[in-house]
Formats: sequence, C-alpha cells, structure tokens
Amino acid sequence: MARDFTLKAYAGIVDAALAAGYHPVGVGDWLDGFRPCEPVIVLRHDVDRRPEHALAMAHLEASRGILATYYFRTVGSAFNPAIIREIATLGHEIGYHYEDFHLAKYDPAKAHALYLKNLGALREIAPIRSIAMHGSPLAKYSNMELWNHRSFSESGVKDCILSGDWSQFLFFTDTGRSFDARLTNLRDTIGGKRVPGVASSAAVGEHLQTYCPPLVQLSVHPERWSDRLWAWSRQLVVDTAANGVKVGLRILR
Ligand SMILES: [Zn+2]
Repeated sequence: MARDFTLKAYAGIVDAALAAGYHPVGVGDWLDGFRPCEPVIVLRHDVDRRPEHALAMAHLEASRGILATYYFRTVGSAFNPAIIREIATLGHEIGYHYEDFHLAKYDPAKAHALYLKNLGALREIAPIRSIAMHGSPLAKYSNMELWNHRSFSESGVKDCILSGDWSQFLFFTDTGRSFDARLTNLRDTIGGKRVPGVASSAAVGEHLQTYCPPLVQLSVHPERWSDRLWAWSRQLVVDTAANGVKVGLRILR
C-alpha cells in the first residue's frame, strides 16, 4: 500500500477536488466575502515547523493554478522570511499562526503587545489579512482566549475561526495524522461538520468525488507531508508520540 501523508498523497486530494469541479479559495478571500461558484474548497495550511515542506506544497498548488492560505508561526524554525516571501510570490495568502497568549503566560496586556510585534514582523515580509490560532495542545488555555480581552480587528485582520461562519462546511483536518482523528485532536476545530470514517487522503479524495459536498475546508499541516522517506518516518514517530500524549491529556481533562 502506498504511504499516506506524502506530497503525492496531497496532490491526490487536490486533483480529486479539481476533477470534481471544486473552486479552491484562500481563507482571507473567503472571510473578505469572495464567493466563487460551489462547490468550494477553502485551503488552509498551518506552518508549525519545517517551512521547506510548506514551500514544496505551495509550488505543487501553484503548478495547478491553486492559491491557499499559509499561516506561519513567528517562533522557532517556521519563521523563515525567505521561504515566506517565496510562498507569497507564488500568489498564496500569508497569515499569522498566533500563540501569543500562551507565550506571554496568559497575561492579556503582554500577550497583545507580543501579538502586535509578531504580526508586524510578518507584515514586513508579506501582507497579512487573516490570523489563525496555533493549537498549543499542551497549553492550559486556548490562544484564542486572548480575544476575550482584546480585539483583533483593531490590527486590521480577520480571525480564521472567529470571523467566519463555518457551520455549513465539511471540515477535513490532518491533525492527529488522520482525517478522522477525534481522540487526538484536542483543539483543531472550526465548528464545521466532520465525516466519520474518512481517515486517509485517498478516502478524502473519494468522498469529494462521490458526494461533492458544496462547502469544504481542508486544513493540512505541511510539515507532515513529505515524499522523502527519512522526513516522512521522522514525522511518523513525532505524530505517534504526540498522539499518545494527547490521548493521555484527554483522559486527564
Ligand atoms: Zn499550529
């Protein structure tokens, strides 16, 4: 059986969507009111680390004339200005994958100042229209809780989750290394509908082609997707360990 979570497997989903007549759209465009004909697939990528994987995915999409949204963290290896710039040059949207509430130990004033600083650093590289929280699954509070104290609209952005009504969307996410992970996905939700039993990339592609649901959001973490066996195997080990921790947390919480 072919390995899943490779670039080739991702291309399989994208090509199935295109063959089924889907119109791909970025999150920022959707939140700003752009409405292509249905069926619509909103493409979202959270870049937690390994930005070179995001770049490869961005090239794959661009070669098919597709634009997506890439949310970049500003801490750690994800923050690679040259790669962010290159992805933006391909025509993709760049967004901020924020985690400031967690980084500032849940102090709203400190967190907001840090948020503005990090957003500013990203804006020196590319225009930023939307933001999406980093899940920080091990953190005590959700990063989105910063917005109980402050307003993100003051900084001229929309929030991927809070600014949109996703209730009519089918939501496919690779969090937990399966499109059907309910036990290991602690925070990654948009309030959309899920499809139980659709776990693999091939199954997602088949579902799109067979049922053609009118509104879909596909959320994929590029770090997980590599054709190179070593990078793929290393990620398998990381995902397996992380899933074990998350199942433990779910039991404790
Ligand atoms: Zn993240």
